Formats: sequence, C-alpha cells, structure tokens
Amino acid sequence: MLKPDLYLSSIFEITPDILKDMGVVALILDVDNTLREYRGKVPYDGVEEWIAKMREAGIQLIVASNNFTRSIQPFALTLDLNYVAMSLKPLPFGLRRALKILNIDRDKVAVVGDQVFTDIFGGKLNGFKTILVEPFVREKGYFWKIKRLFEKPFISRYDKGDKK
Ligand SMILES: [Mg+2]
Repeated sequence: MLKPDLYLSSIFEITPDILKDMGVVALILDVDNTLREYRGKVPYDGVEEWIAKMREAGIQLIVASNNFTRSIQPFALTLDLNYVAMSLKPLPFGLRRALKILNIDRDKVAVVGDQVFTDIFGGKLNGFKTILVEPFVREKGYFWKIKRLFEKPFISRYDKGDKK
C-alpha cells in the first residue's frame, strides 16, 4: 500500500513514453515539494515547459493539494491548471473530486507526489496508479542535504527526549 508504482527523482523524469507504458493518460499532481518549494509561490524552473510537453502528448493534468485554496488557487491559475485544494489526502474526497473533473477511468490516472503517507497511500487506497518523486530544493539542494545530515542526530535525540 505504501510502495509507489514508480519512484523518480523529480517530475522532470516523467515522460509521455513512461506514462504510455504505465497506461496512464492523466496525472493528479501534488504541489508543495513536487511543483514548487514547500510554501513557495512560484513553480520550479522548468515546470511550465514540462507541463507544455505533457499537454502536447495529450496528458491531462490537475493539481490536488492538502494546502489551502488561497495558496493553491493562484498557483494553479498561473500554470492554467484545474485544482483541488484542501484535498485531505490520503482520504478519498479530494482525489475523487479531481477524478470527476478529469472524467477518466481511475486506472488510467496516476497520483504524483513527494509524500508516501499522503500522496502514495492516498493514491493506492483509492485505486490510482502512483508516482513518488523526491522533494527537492533546486539550488539549495546541496545545502539542504548537508543540513539534513547534521539535523539527523539532533532530530533523533529530540524524539527520544520527547518520549520520556
Ligand atoms: Mg508535497
């Protein structure tokens, strides 16, 4: 239930050919850490071009985020995408709404996102195909990797302390 059908480093590795092999004709895209930085306003460099490429190939796209409408609506409009905000992933409500807008059989739709417990679990739970992407921070990527490495012992120490 938690294992994605496909695990890629970013959405940019998703190509029309890969989707064709999976039998997928539409994507329900997560927003934060998938199309933009967490709580960011603008898409990652290259997202618009990637969307154009998908559209050219006839792939339908919609975004479904657990984030608030006020954050998701302007972002989706910028990219000319339909959206479902406050989607409550992994619960079925938001994904069902997205599917209704797409009007496609769910086994031809993949949920794409960076979080196993919301995007992937939610997708699988509701009968979709799933694609997990790594949350990445362009430019700051290297910095964050180092930061996370240093954070690790502190995070686990904090967790232990918390349980006492
Ligand atoms: Mg996310």
